[in-house]
Amino acid sequence: MVSQVYSDYSSFAANVTSFGDVYQQFNAVPTLNFVEKLWGSYYYYMNNDLFATGLLFFLVHEVFYFGRCLPWYVIDKIPYFQKYKIQPDKMPSDKEQWECLKSVLTSHFLVEAFPIWFFHPFCQKIGITFDVPFPKITTMLWQWALFFVLEDAWHYWFHRGLHHGPFYKYIHKQHHRYAAPFGLAAEYAHPVEVMLLGLGTVGIPVVFCMFTKNLHLFTVCIWIILRLFQAVDAHSGYEFPWSLHHFLPFWAGADHHDEHHHYFIGSYASSFRWWDAVLKTEAGPGPKAKREQVMKAKAERKQKKHQ
Ligand SMILES: [Zn+2]
Ligand SMILES: [Zn+2]
Repeated sequence: MVSQVYSDYSSFAANVTSFGDVYQQFNAVPTLNFVEKLWGSYYYYMNNDLFATGLLFFLVHEVFYFGRCLPWYVIDKIPYFQKYKIQPDKMPSDKEQWECLKSVLTSHFLVEAFPIWFFHPFCQKIGITFDVPFPKITTMLWQWALFFVLEDAWHYWFHRGLHHGPFYKYIHKQHHRYAAPFGLAAEYAHPVEVMLLGLGTVGIPVVFCMFTKNLHLFTVCIWIILRLFQAVDAHSGYEFPWSLHHFLPFWAGADHHDEHHHYFIGSYASSFRWWDAVLKTEAGPGPKAKREQVMKAKAERKQKKHQ
């Protein structure tokens, strides 16, 4: 069996076994770019599409999650950056981070490692393609943007729901163990929460593909990496003058999510500020005072009208 990653292997030499040899064959295909050649070689070399996708997604998750957490751990150790810490009196100790790391790793192996192996047959069933060449970059760009917007809405409502009574007590409380978050704490959560909020990240592209039949596995792979970066950075605990929300005012970032951990209520969205702004659920004393001011002004206007 040869991987279904490429439609025409007719020009390939027989008996290619090492990864280097496989890459040489793909390298000779003039229509493929560097990443497409790597992707194609990987699937051809693995010679088992189900295993190749499972391993790829598991490794992508581990490497990019912990890879993104590491710089934040280093920044915590450098005194220069302390002035940018949102809650400077609450530095996470090494012991706290170690406990968190162990829990997140356990969750990755017990909760996520198992379903990931069913991903490939599932993708094939619903029509997510994984062949080369990839779709156009413009297609990928609008799909990533759409996933960000939809995931944010999913996250807002389910996260807000998780703050109610028994849902908070039995599920979401675990994630709120750290009132001053740090990168690694992004995925520190109850397995039910990991599944529920993870469904927003994976389920949205799946449903999108069921309707449109227009989605590539590479697009999903990069989307998951972007979403991991967003989640880790939102928990970093740092607000810089160069943070993204200064340039894109509707981007949430750490500034938004740190307030959520600090005050426990409000600021429920993941990537953007619009849901909390429109539904008046922004956390912290600043937005609360602003809301009160608006309400007061409204009441005064009403009173004047009646006088
Ligand atoms: Zn919460
Ligand atoms: Zn959080």
